[in-house]
Formats: sequence, C-alpha cells, structure tokens
Amino acid sequence: MHHFKYCNHELYCEDVRVSDIAKETGTPVFIYSKNTALDHFKKLDQAFASVDHLICYSIKANSNLALCHAMAQAGCGADIVSGGELYRALKAGFPNDKIVYAGVGKTREEIRYALENDIFMFNVESFPEAQTINEEALALGKKARVAIRVNPDVNAHTHDYITTGKKENKFGINFHDAPEFYKNLVSMPGLDVAGIHLHIGSQILTPGPYTDSVRRGISLVQQLKAMNIPLSIINIGGGMGIIYKDEEPMDAQEFAADVIPLVKDMNCKIVMEPGRHIVGNAGILVSKVVYIKETPVKKFIIQDAAMTDLIRPCLYDAYHEIKPLVESPDRPVNHKDVVGPVCESSDFFAKDRHLQDMESGEYLAVMSAGAYGFVMSSNYNSRPRACEVLVDGNQWRIVRKRETLEDLIRGEVL
Ligand code: PLP
Repeated sequence: MHHFKYCNHELYCEDVRVSDIAKETGTPVFIYSKNTALDHFKKLDQAFASVDHLICYSIKANSNLALCHAMAQAGCGADIVSGGELYRALKAGFPNDKIVYAGVGKTREEIRYALENDIFMFNVESFPEAQTINEEALALGKKARVAIRVNPDVNAHTHDYITTGKKENKFGINFHDAPEFYKNLVSMPGLDVAGIHLHIGSQILTPGPYTDSVRRGISLVQQLKAMNIPLSIINIGGGMGIIYKDEEPMDAQEFAADVIPLVKDMNCKIVMEPGRHIVGNAGILVSKVVYIKETPVKKFIIQDAAMTDLIRPCLYDAYHEIKPLVESPDRPVNHKDVVGPVCESSDFFAKDRHLQDMESGEYLAVMSAGAYGFVMSSNYNSRPRACEVLVDGNQWRIVRKRETLEDLIRGEVL
C-alpha cells in the first residue's frame, strides 16, 4: 500500500532514512513518497483500462506543486474547486483539457478564469451558477462543457462532515428535480450539457454506496436519453477510502470490478476524482518530542507538530497511526497521549495510545498524513507552516520551504 517501512528498526521512506531528512530540514516536516502516489494512480488507471476514462486527481487533498507535477507527468488530470486550485493545477502542468471544476460557490471571476483556460468541464451545482457560466461563456464567444452534479441521496456511511450525497447536504441538484433542471440547461446557448457528476463523500470503505450512486446516475442518464438529452460523460466522483487503522481499504481492482459492469454499455467517458486514495498513504508528518509530561492520571508526549499542521484528529476525531522513527523493542510500552503545543485541548494526535517510551529530542511519524494534511494547515498561534519534502527512490528534496517568522506577518501593516 505504501513505501514507508522499517529497516533495522529505522523508518524509511522509499530508500531514504526518514531521520536523515528530519535532521536536515528540522520539524515538523511532511514527507511524501512520490512512488506511492504514482502506484495508486497507475493501479486505478489500469483497473479502468477497459473503458474510456479520465482520472482527475482531486488536488484539494494535497496541492503541493511538485507532487501535482508528478501526477500530471504520469498522465493524470485534476479536479479543482477554486480559482486558486486552477492556478496551481496549471502551474503544476496539468493539461487544461484534463481539468474538472466542482464546488457550490464558484464566483463569476473564477468561472471566467476557467473559461479563458478552456478547462475540460464544470460540475454545475445550482441554477444561478449555470446562468453565470452561460453568460460568461457567451461573453467570451465560447461554449462551456458542463456536467450537472446530481445528489443521489445515498448514505456513504462515513463521517457526517465528509458525507455529501444525502438530500440534506448543500451539494448538487435534488435527484427528482434533475430531469427538469437538465431541460432548462440545454436551452442555454453558452452551455454544452454533456454529463452527470456524482460525489457522495470521502473515506468510503465499501463499494455499496458507490454502486448505489452509479446505478441511480445511470437510471437518470437513461431517462434523459429518452427525453432527447444524450449525455457522454459520467463522473463518479472521488471518495475511495484508505487504511488509517485496521480498515479494509477499497482495492482499485475490486472497485473497478464493481463499477465497470454498470457503466460499460453506456457509451460514456468515465471520469473519477480520487484524492485521498492517491496521496493519503503517500505522506507522513514527522515531529520531534519536546517534552515528556506526567500527571497523576496521564502521560503526555508533547511534540512540535500540532493541530495547525494536521487538523484531522481534532476536526473529525480521525485516527492516525503514530510510529517512532527509531523502534526500541526493549523500551516499556504504555498508554499515553500525543499532543501538540497549541493552546486548545483538541490539539492532540492520539489519546491513550499504546506506544513505546520516548525521550525529548527523538522523532515521531504521524502516518497516512498525505491527504488533507498540509493543505488544511493554518498559522493559528502564529505557528509557521511546516516544510514539505518529496522522496523519489534514494533522492529527496524540499518542495516547499518551512515558513519563516517574516512570512507570518507578510501583507500586514501596523
Ligand atoms: N470530488 C469532489 C467533488 C469532492 O468534494 C472531493 C472531496 O471533498 C473529492 C472529489 C475528493 O475526495 P477524496 O479525497 O475522498 O477522494
């Protein structure tokens, strides 16, 4: 699943000893394995080889330029949700005609920017948004290819904050209103209404919700065909789950084996938008132990990474494995909390975790931190954001410098 492994009790990323990187860059540092991300993309790409398809890596999961560049070089497209992500995607080298644009709040300026760059497709989420795309396309003398994001009202059985396909969610068009919605959009001269978009949530661990969503989508495509609205694109979204603890992850082959039979006779291009599946297990966050603190009821490892670097435990109560960079099998193992220095009780990475004893100055790795890690980091408590490193075989390089104190006040005036 990934290229992080112990060799002689020391953690390696591909062929590089992680502690060698940490000593040179300082901590906290995100370390990405390029070949883990590429392997995930290639496996998915091969699994869908029998149907016309386009994989658009969801860059919200990890938009580091160098990592995105590697994905683009491998032939992957990009799924974006803002003008900023479009800027990044183009800078990273994703071809404009492999970029799909989702999101409920695209502004007129963002829409124009995307039209000027001839992206592959917009995933439309509301009628006013469709009107704006239509107006802007006409003003530029273009026709905008659009898919309509339909809310299939399927429960993805994942965390409430990352469920998007239930009828009470803000995303997409109500399934039952969709035919009427399509009818209205095909009359807009600036739009090429070409597809349907489905995305029901993130960290989905069983194919059931996907196949339910795709089946509903297909029934709609067939209904639209009967209404003389033929579609040529089915975007099945992202959301494939990964291992954080002991989950059974969705394997690319099994996923494809469930989805392909449903779509293969539809004569449509299949678009996918995986984010976490590609990069989740491809990154770790390395920190240094600052202090060990014991109270009458708890033992704490206080280390120098925080919720400002990786917010998932605080935001979703997410589980991340924590490993020492150097395993010491003869040390005592007992329950402890791994916490950061931020002034919030929610600043923790693990509670009551069974871990070997550590000393200050030693390093820890928070595993599976490649997705929704650095991209969700902040400067809260005036903490400079971490640096990012990309490993490729036995080579590594800094692909984003650690922020400095000057960076913290850039743009501010007294
Ligand atoms: N596509 C859309 C429209 C999304 O909203 C998201 C995540 O929020 C994704 C794709 C990527 O999801 P994941 O990283 O779970 O694959």
